[in-house]
Amino acid sequence: MMANAFTKNLYTTRRTKVVCTIGPASESETCIRDLIKEGMNVARLNFSHCSYDEALNRIRVLRAVRKEMDVPLAIMLDTKGPEVRLFGYNKPVAISKGETLYVESTEKQPEEITCLPPEKRHFYTNLPRIDRLCRVGTRVLLQDGFIELEVSRLHGEWPGAVSLRVLNEGKLKDKAHLAIPGVHYPIPFLSEKDKKDIAFAVDNGFEYIALSFVRTASDITDVRGIIRAARADSPIKLIAKIEDKQALANLDEIIRDSDGIMVARGDLGIELPIEELPGMQKTIINHCYMAGKPVIVATQMLESMTEMPYPTRAEVTDIANAVLELTSSVMLSGETAKGAHPKRVVNMMGRIIDRTESGIDYHTLARITHDYVNHDEITNIMAYSVVNTAHDWNAKGIAVITASGIGARALSKFRPGVPIYAFTHHETLYHQLALNWGVVPFLIEDPENLRFSDVAGKIIDLLLKRGAIENGEKLIFMASSPLGKRRPTNTIRCEVVGDTTFHEAT
Ligand code: PEP
Repeated sequence: MMANAFTKNLYTTRRTKVVCTIGPASESETCIRDLIKEGMNVARLNFSHCSYDEALNRIRVLRAVRKEMDVPLAIMLDTKGPEVRLFGYNKPVAISKGETLYVESTEKQPEEITCLPPEKRHFYTNLPRIDRLCRVGTRVLLQDGFIELEVSRLHGEWPGAVSLRVLNEGKLKDKAHLAIPGVHYPIPFLSEKDKKDIAFAVDNGFEYIALSFVRTASDITDVRGIIRAARADSPIKLIAKIEDKQALANLDEIIRDSDGIMVARGDLGIELPIEELPGMQKTIINHCYMAGKPVIVATQMLESMTEMPYPTRAEVTDIANAVLELTSSVMLSGETAKGAHPKRVVNMMGRIIDRTESGIDYHTLARITHDYVNHDEITNIMAYSVVNTAHDWNAKGIAVITASGIGARALSKFRPGVPIYAFTHHETLYHQLALNWGVVPFLIEDPENLRFSDVAGKIIDLLLKRGAIENGEKLIFMASSPLGKRRPTNTIRCEVVGDTTFHEAT
């Protein structure tokens, strides 16, 4: 590939990664090509709204385009997760402030329910024993939090039902989402559909699964069990979506046992008082940053652009703040899945990221992260040194040769001001690293049994060809020698590109 504006941008500047949800508005080959050109790093398929046939078609197109364009692009399956719903009506129901609804728990499926006349205001939920989960005065939210109600009576006209006073008017659409903020829902973390979808992701070689409503670290262990049963050596990585109070209470264990985190602000904004969201986002990003795990900030980042050609000032500021908080990635949902102009949205997100990143002092940041070095891991200790050496020596980039991804991720943790060029011979890892802050992945031949200086020489040639570096510029290598054996880092080497003495070294 020749160096051009697109490769220059992709390979030398942007650090914060962009996750785009692919849906009917963006599934065409042309649109996917456009989204990659604008900076899409991860393509997300939301299994709340995606059939297996649609998914298979989208994966086929995504794989073909990433191959044709010779770029890393991770493909992520996002599970539907356990759902608490209101049902028992067969057309939208307008409800008014002050009236009372009666909601009863049932084990029946919505299709098995005989709907009562809507004027009876008697509906059902799959949440077991709603009367035991609530007290008089408990807040209940319907329709993604847009309709607020309050429990007025626990055992009313119907046994096991609760009476809810409507606090603001609204319209109940088909199977409205029901939430009782702060309550632990007594339903399993994984539905049967989720289990099937996880096996589908493994069988079809997705790079990531984003798990909805993870509540404890053992939820992650359970999913790893399902994955092992589907394919013992699956390299798939797990992103835990933080969506409720229980997950927040177990945040550090969940970060420890997962491969990354998503701040799922849609559900989190329902389950928490909405004004707590900005502070929580900051806390989650900071905990991930200290742990060296990637973190994605999701939902409504450019919501108005789903229809409008231009964002609101608040949206622009929201993206900039997430970048300043050092998130690894920002995510687009409906904006790219079903919006009017997906390409324009990604372009706008990229512009905001680039402008915001240009004002960050990465040198100071890297120095003050010394307290975050994990002293039990030599790779982590060396990554801290490499990042600071790169800054002190005014290097143009860091090249890490990595078989497991650990070296590249450790470098990413210290947020260098220069690109982390990650060279691996594992194709899945090559695409997975597209999610990590500041990492620019490259696929190379297996370096096992090759001399370090030969591999380094090829890497320099590749970076020169891609326009990422020029003769006379400085590059720092980090690797474990002998190469390709998944050993902890033991080598740092500093090179001036074009220095002919280089190839004579061992
Ligand atoms: C969210 O709740 O913010 C989220 C990303 O999850 P979903 O889109 O699956 O609701």
